[in-house]
Amino acid sequence: MKQKYIFIGPPGSGKGTQTEKLSHEYNLPHIDTGALLRAEIASGSEDGKLADSFISKGQLVPITLVANVIKNRLKKTDCEKGFILDGYPRSMEQAYALDDILAEIDTDKNIKPCVFYFDVDEKLLVERLVNRRSCIKCHSIYNLKTMKLNDESVCPKCGGQLIRRDDDTEEIAYKRFDTYFNQTAPLIDMYKERGWLIRLDASKDIVSVYNDLVGEIKGHVNS
Ligand SMILES: [Zn+2]
Repeated sequence: MKQKYIFIGPPGSGKGTQTEKLSHEYNLPHIDTGALLRAEIASGSEDGKLADSFISKGQLVPITLVANVIKNRLKKTDCEKGFILDGYPRSMEQAYALDDILAEIDTDKNIKPCVFYFDVDEKLLVERLVNRRSCIKCHSIYNLKTMKLNDESVCPKCGGQLIRRDDDTEEIAYKRFDTYFNQTAPLIDMYKERGWLIRLDASKDIVSVYNDLVGEIKGHVNS
């Protein structure tokens, strides 16, 4: 596992888009914890059944269980070259769990992981969120700030109705981001101290952020 990339960033930072692009161009598996858990549940595996029993009661899936699912995923042959871990870890406990996983299964321990932090100003994130509209028919997502639509209530692709999610209000968004930043701040500090952290200015446009990301990766590989 030479290329160990960990992507950390708040919702709306564009992290998902960048992961998709990098995963495709570098042929590295994109490991999204949420999607991974959903797939595990759908498969009816023991871990999946257990995870479902927590989720269906509205409880958080225990750290050890999530870690186990991630470990099993990282053991698959497509991760031999490396992986992109998207949205994990989110807390110090999860970071320690990831340390344990890598200590156990990483075959290239001498190569340190790169933690990319998608840094965006909170105000900008809230602005992105409240300007977000999604189509009820084809689920396309639009940002009214960056895409000028003739009619802000009609999807230009399929003619479906564009709506704003109920929880995409300024007040709820600020609350959500505060929780996020409080939880991840110590994580950022820890990775910085270890020399793993690479900060990306995620307030830039998609192409610029991607170029920065690839530039850092090339520098890392050659160093
Ligand atoms: Zn549509």
